[in-house]
This record gives sequence, structure tokens and C-alpha cells, in this order.
Amino acid sequence: MPEGDTVHRLAGRLHAALAGLELARSDVRVPRFATADLAGQHVVEVVAHGKHVLMRLDDVTVHSHLKMEGAWHVHPLGTRWSRPAHEARIVLDTVPAAMPTGDARPLQAVGFALGELDLVRRDAENEVVGHLGPDPLADDWDRAEALRRLTAQPSRPIGLALLDQRAVSGFGNDYRNEVLFLRGVLPETPVGATDVEGVLDLAVRLIRANRDRSQRVTSGNLRRGERLWVAHRDGRPCRRCGTRIERGLLGEDPTTERITWFCPRCQR
Ligand SMILES: [Zn+2]
Repeated sequence: MPEGDTVHRLAGRLHAALAGLELARSDVRVPRFATADLAGQHVVEVVAHGKHVLMRLDDVTVHSHLKMEGAWHVHPLGTRWSRPAHEARIVLDTVPAAMPTGDARPLQAVGFALGELDLVRRDAENEVVGHLGPDPLADDWDRAEALRRLTAQPSRPIGLALLDQRAVSGFGNDYRNEVLFLRGVLPETPVGATDVEGVLDLAVRLIRANRDRSQRVTSGNLRRGERLWVAHRDGRPCRRCGTRIERGLLGEDPTTERITWFCPRCQR
């Protein structure tokens, strides 16, 4: 699943392609918004909050979340889609836009297989993202508030708190596992027994360092297969001590369990 760094890059690409353009036609393929007509609206800006994308038009915000399989594609109108048509959830055609080649063509933005898609009034964005915790990739990052939310339940495992988007926004499973390895902490460790400031500050440094990279790196090694310490590496030797990396499951309940990876020697 894309994490905050990936989603911020996506929002940046959408903003660069679409900001300032007027929509000529819209087709929202989810029942709740099927009658919406966004023609005549301009794309004011596209921003991310955590893993959520907010495409702000004149009056309306198009809110989306990629979840597992979602994607946004932008291409000249008439380009053959690279994903099946039945996966399209929203299609936005623009008025002709200046191309790098010098001519002007309409663009088309298509949201495929979006896990969430809502249209809300601009002044009602809080209905879809108001619950989210501070985002370390946002200009208004509030470290103190993130710490307050992360430590609100001292008995909760740190591995769960870090993934809770209501506490801090943008971290997913790769960052959770990598940061806890680097801090020598097992994911099940209660928040109250964890140096949460140390964990948070390192997680923030890592996600910021990866914001402008196409490949997520936590090991400092850019070579393929060597970019992460423990995530996706169960059964393979720890890069530090050689012990076999193990995997487990951690969730608030069985329906929300996600995989954990850890070194049983480096993390205690
Ligand atoms: Zn180790």
C-alpha cells in the first residue's frame, strides 16, 4: 500500500499537470456522486494529507485514497488507458492545455480502483480528513500534537500506534517495521515503555528523506534488494547481526492484522 511519501509525490505530479486548468467534462463512476457535474470548475491545487489526496476545485474537493490498488493517471485526452475501464472511478477531461511540445491539447485525469472517493464542498473537507493526525510531510506539521496522540494510550503497542492515521498521518507498514528495527524496539512493546520521541523523530526523518525518491530507502543503500532492513525480508539474515528475520501479525483485532518483520536479536 502506498505510504505518505508516495502519495505526496503523486499529489505533486497531479498538481504540476492540472493546476490552473478548467474541467471540460467529468464522469464520476461511483453511485453516490454519479450525477455530479464538475464541468467549468478549475483545478486550484492538488495536495496530500497523509495517504489522502485532495484535489481542490473552485467549489468542490475531490478526495481520494488509493488503498491497495488505486492509481491516478494523467495523459493527453484520447490516450489508450493502461488499466481496464471497469476500474475507472472518476474521469476528468480538461480544456486544452499547453504541452511541452508547444501545442495545446486537452488532458485527461483518471482515478483507477480508488479505495475511497468523495466529492465534498471545499469548506467541508474536515468531513473526510478532519480525523487525521499531523502529517510530517505537510507544512503545518505539529510534532507536539503527534506525540500527544501517539502516547494517549500507554498500554497500546507502539507498532499499532504508528499505523494509526488518527495519531500521525502517512506512515504505513514499511516505515513501522523499519523504524522499530532501527530503534531496537519490538512492535508489541507498549507505548508507555517506548522512547516514542526517538521513534517518531526517526520516522519523520526517514519519510522526509524519501519524499523525492522513487524507491523507498531506509538502509542508506540504494541498490535493489538492499534498501530496507527488515520489511519483506523474513527468513533472510539480519543485515546487522545475521540472525534470521522473523515475521508476525499485529492488529487491534484479527480483521486489521498487518504483517510485522523484526530481528529477534536486535529488537527487544
Ligand atoms: Zn539483527
